[in-house]
Amino acid sequence: MKGNRAFEEIYDHVKNLEIIDTHEHLPAFESLREKNTDILKEYLTHYFNCDLISAGLSQSDYERVIDSDYPLMDRWSLVEPYWEAAGNTGYARALNISVRELYGIESISRDTIEQLNGKFMKSLEPGHFRLVLKEKSKIKVSLLHDIPKENERIIFTSNLKCDEEFFRSVYPVDACIFPQSAEDIERIEKEYGKKICCIDDWLEACEVLLDNALQNGAVALKSALAYVRTLLYKRVTNNEAEEDFNDIFRNRHMRTYMQQAFTVGSRFQDYMMHFVLRLANRKNLAIQFHTGLQEGNGNIVYNSDPSLLSNLFLEYPDVKFDLFHMGYPYQHVVSALAKNFPNVYIDMCWAHIISPHASINALMEWIDTVPVNKISAFGGDYLFIDAVVGHQYMARKNVSSALAKKVEEDVFDTERAKKIAGQLFYENPCTIFSLEDTFH
Ligand SMILES: [Zn+2]
Repeated sequence: MKGNRAFEEIYDHVKNLEIIDTHEHLPAFESLREKNTDILKEYLTHYFNCDLISAGLSQSDYERVIDSDYPLMDRWSLVEPYWEAAGNTGYARALNISVRELYGIESISRDTIEQLNGKFMKSLEPGHFRLVLKEKSKIKVSLLHDIPKENERIIFTSNLKCDEEFFRSVYPVDACIFPQSAEDIERIEKEYGKKICCIDDWLEACEVLLDNALQNGAVALKSALAYVRTLLYKRVTNNEAEEDFNDIFRNRHMRTYMQQAFTVGSRFQDYMMHFVLRLANRKNLAIQFHTGLQEGNGNIVYNSDPSLLSNLFLEYPDVKFDLFHMGYPYQHVVSALAKNFPNVYIDMCWAHIISPHASINALMEWIDTVPVNKISAFGGDYLFIDAVVGHQYMARKNVSSALAKKVEEDVFDTERAKKIAGQLFYENPCTIFSLEDTFH
């Protein structure tokens, strides 16, 4: 794209835009940032480590690579061949751009890793969040899905509090829909303040929790259940759901003798998704849905085909469905869905680093098929702060690239391209999540 006039003009505008970030998993306050870390441990928390494992790094070697008690160069030697093999993926590029933008180092390599680590360790001082999110990334706010600590799957809604300079919270509804252990249920009971004795209590508890979440500042709901089940949520009767729910009580007396993991039947899960959407309908909330590729090394990708949600789109026409990750690799399916349904929106969070190429092509396709007020261009989707810089940089480049190609095709001029960029990066997410009211 270098030297292309339309691209240069559009990118010149886009690189300075203030943007909304539709999705992050960062610590809710900078003070909560993990301090016992170093560059390899932090940068390989997620995403790029999966490319390394995909390239052949064993799980046990990976664990050594992220163990900051071992010498840095030994760990680098262990990971180097896989880093080299995966070095051109979107994940790798995001990290290289980040170290360039934040630390002035061209890329991560054997020659730079030690110097880089020194600079990284200094970034653990307060003020780094402001540098990354505001100065370098020009992010107005990020919608935050805080992942609970200590492998707890449920967030107490009081924990939705976050630093409002940077974040607005979203409320994950998955534990209401698919509790997976006795502990999940106990945590819900604890917040509800009463024991749950039947399915009606459960429904009431979920509504109370959702109201608490809204009071604690949540601006939208989120579901990531495509990691563990299909996105097809059938309509089932109260009786069918209750039958599945009652299984929870079958072994409750055993609780004091043994740990219990259990699966509540799918009819209950289906019922609960419909129940949550009824609440979203009543309370006028948008819901963010994980669709497409699951993070990690191995899952069932067809469980997360976004077209499986079609019955929900039809049955809850006043609920806004924000489809994450452009549904990759179902970005063409997402195109058809967003074209068809007034209540379906495309969210490119995570997408620009999963595949920069697919992101550009998909956006070009959507410009031809989908009204431009239905697309949000960026969500960092990172657990650690530094890589947000690289991701937003790539997003700005990709969007500019797609728009410039449309200018070349004579679909519109550069002025219109710049206007669309503003919609994709700011106005659309602002409207979809009613964020304007939260800016004070
Ligand atoms: Zn995420």
